[in-house]
Amino acid sequence: MQRILVTGGAGFIGSHLVDALLERGQEVLCLDNFFTGSKSNVARHLGNPRFEVVRHDVVEPILLEVDQIYNLACPASPVHYQYNPVKTVKTNVLGTLNMLGLAKRVGARILQASTSEVYGDPEVHPQTEDYWGNVNPIGLRSCYDEGKRLAETLMMDYHRSNEVDVRIVRIFNTYGPRMAVNDGRVVSNFAVQALRGEPITIYGDGTQTRSFCYVDDLVAGLIAMMESEDFIGPVNLGNPSEFTMLELAEKVMKFSGSQSPLEFKPLPPDDPTQRRPDISLAREKLAWNPAVELEQGLAPTLDYFRSVLFRD
Ligand code: NAD
Ligand code: UDP
Repeated sequence: MQRILVTGGAGFIGSHLVDALLERGQEVLCLDNFFTGSKSNVARHLGNPRFEVVRHDVVEPILLEVDQIYNLACPASPVHYQYNPVKTVKTNVLGTLNMLGLAKRVGARILQASTSEVYGDPEVHPQTEDYWGNVNPIGLRSCYDEGKRLAETLMMDYHRSNEVDVRIVRIFNTYGPRMAVNDGRVVSNFAVQALRGEPITIYGDGTQTRSFCYVDDLVAGLIAMMESEDFIGPVNLGNPSEFTMLELAEKVMKFSGSQSPLEFKPLPPDDPTQRRPDISLAREKLAWNPAVELEQGLAPTLDYFRSVLFRD
């Protein structure tokens, strides 16, 4: 049996990955500093002898014996990664260095959760993996965008110089149950606002686009990439169906039966105007294809937020 380390395993995507790995009979070690993740996301596994969770900050080195590492530790929402931008840089750079050092020492394969943000405000649409991006190096999003870009650089340098067995995935906007209520990302904001009957906050004029991937699809892609024998990436993982934020608001309101008004707010600086993955490479190399369209994925997502918001 392989022992698999998931950093950021108590977060939104990480906890779904932990579920899937345990389901497959693997042994899983979750490291998390609980900045944006929570114990409740993994609490159901606490009695499972194949599961361990350790409070640890990846910025600090750690000695472990593992066979595979999924490096997901990093706040993903702009609100959270901008809360302490220097810490975000440290998590991406020192955290990734520590995990690469660990992978090198024990000969583990390591997968880095990179992001579509490495493309910045893209001039190429849809985005292919060979596009180098249009990123502001000194803006409010740089701690995350440039942090993730440097994490990719470290992965490739450890691969070339130290033969570390690496995998890089560029994750596009992902949503689903267990997004934090206060997360600040668009799907969670709209869902919570619609369910509470509060105004739906549209940043800018709402014509900017994103492509939303359901978390189960994304997790299947992460595992397929980890298990791929000779393809190291980078590879885009996301759902290529593209929506404006106005279209997303309309769908969330329809599926939640909400009458919330729209409230227009200023567009945050450097907010990308469009984003859609070209997933030809993932289809070809991993035979991966997202199966859950937005209309289907919103139902369990709204159910989740309902259960959290109206618990009693
Ligand atoms: P999340 O904020 O829910 O999860 C991140 C987890 O990492 C949390 O449990 C948090 O407590 C933990 N963490 C943060 N800093 C840490 C540190 N220094 N040491 C240890 N643990 C730390 O976010 P998510 O949406 O689950 O994102 C997971 C990963 O996927 C992140 O690396 C993110 O950059 C990447 N990603 C996510 C998306 C998306 O749409 N959700 C898109 C692109 C990339
Ligand atoms: N957004 C919005 N209202 C919100 C939160 C976000 O209109 O309440 C917009 C945001 O400006 C961006 C898009 O939705 O254009 C996606 O934002 P998110 O923070 O989810 O992810 P990212 O910008 O990192 O793709």
